[in-house]
Amino acid sequence: MSNALLLVLSAPSGCGKTTIVNRVMHNLPGLVFSVSHTTRQPRPGEVNGVHYHFVEGAVFSGIRNQQPTGFLEWAEVHGNMYGTSVEEVDKHQRAGCDVILDIDVQGAAQVRLRANPVTVFIAPPSLVELERRLRGRATENETTIAVRLNNARKELACVGAYDYLIVNDRLEDAVESLRSILIAERCRQRRAPDGQPMQWGV
Ligand code: ADP
Ligand code: 5GP
Repeated sequence: MSNALLLVLSAPSGCGKTTIVNRVMHNLPGLVFSVSHTTRQPRPGEVNGVHYHFVEGAVFSGIRNQQPTGFLEWAEVHGNMYGTSVEEVDKHQRAGCDVILDIDVQGAAQVRLRANPVTVFIAPPSLVELERRLRGRATENETTIAVRLNNARKELACVGAYDYLIVNDRLEDAVESLRSILIAERCRQRRAPDGQPMQWGV
């Protein structure tokens, strides 16, 4: 059994999750980002295979139908389909890396049923500040901003289901919190189903 961590990160869109993850990945080795599949159109600057695997609806459905080996989880978010492929997570864990899943609250609930993830919710200091950040990023039009803000209210209601909560007020503090969570979780004693500590290699 792999000792690699599966870190599920959820946050309302525009909260700063991508910014935080990129900074943590820069100064913590052994961490990889799971590239999801989506039917959403790429934004300017987004690269296929790096930010997402951008696929047609038929391709997405094909993977979704290959259960249980297709998607570890999938969901419709803001009118588009998103999913984490089993293969994507397996390949990184086999290489001994901790894997970050940037997924919504529906996907997080599915992963909890199939794996043993560490779950972290990133919240904005306020909905007013979330709206300011979404507008400041300048990637959405008025309609998609409204959809994302409406969804944010529903997602914030799910905070209680997560192991950790980080409020992204000062960016440096949020980065340090996520880094600290990962370092602590790497030191946590993993327990086998019979309650015994798992092998640690000496
Ligand atoms: P997400 O990945 O959650 O959708 P982003 O990382 O794209 O969000 O961040 C949305 C916008 O908010 C970006 O313009 C980013 O620079 C900005 N941002 C992120 N964290 C903070 C923060 N702590 N304070 C102010 N602005 C922030
Ligand atoms: P965006 O379109 O802004 O990149 O992402 C929109 C939302 O989709 C975010 O909340 C993000 O966490 C979520 N998301 C991205 N990839 C996946 C995925 O593979 N599965 C699920 N369930 N949600 C995802």
